[in-house]
Amino acid sequence: MKLIHKFKSPNFNKRISNKINLIIIHYTALKSINESIEYLCAKKNRVSAHYLISKTGAIYNLVPENQRAWHAGESYWKGEKDINSQSIGIELDYLPLKNHNKYTKELINSLIKLLKLLIKKYKIKPHNILGHSDVAPYRKIDPGTNFPWHIFEEKKISFKIKKLSNVSEIKNVLNNWYKKNQINSKEKKIIFWLGYIGYDVRNLRKKYKINQLLSIYNSRYKVYKSNFYNKKNIFNVIELHFLNIILTKLKK
Ligand SMILES: [Zn+2]
Repeated sequence: MKLIHKFKSPNFNKRISNKINLIIIHYTALKSINESIEYLCAKKNRVSAHYLISKTGAIYNLVPENQRAWHAGESYWKGEKDINSQSIGIELDYLPLKNHNKYTKELINSLIKLLKLLIKKYKIKPHNILGHSDVAPYRKIDPGTNFPWHIFEEKKISFKIKKLSNVSEIKNVLNNWYKKNQINSKEKKIIFWLGYIGYDVRNLRKKYKINQLLSIYNSRYKVYKSNFYNKKNIFNVIELHFLNIILTKLKK
């Protein structure tokens, strides 16, 4: 895999911890690769990413991996708030348009190669390959609804929700636990599950924020097969997602 080192961004500082365990995927929302390089390397913009991938599949290294690039901003995942310190940031040369333009094949192929390399190097788990929208769901929507997460799920690069059998027993145990902890409405359960998965569910009292979080979740996991808003479907999928995670934990 060829990396281009021709351009460097001055926008980084020291990581607070040396542990790299997340990868955050972004789009630049700019028109071209040249514009993206210029933007991410201009000191005044105070943003950057470790990698930038062009529509033709060229991979630019803008910040050394051991430094803290400035891509995630105000973010949250599993209780952690300094996401920049523990992650590698990858920007994709993509601008969403009204005609629902797709990511190019070349860009996706290069991203697959880069992710495979980073996952091996830092032993990053599939559930820690995230979009910017996962760690900042109330501010950001990138990498957006056209990002082909299914390709990454099939290649076991990102987390895939699997169908489970024989879960009625564990569901009974959990139902008692929910009752004891007054997690009794569907909405409370959804919020509990999403929080357990890693999402920021602090201050979720406002209804529009819950809807925003569900829409971000939906754009990643494609819960609604059509545009029809199916509440029952998203409830079942998030529950299954949660069960996937606790059952993998129990197996360890
Ligand atoms: Zn972003």
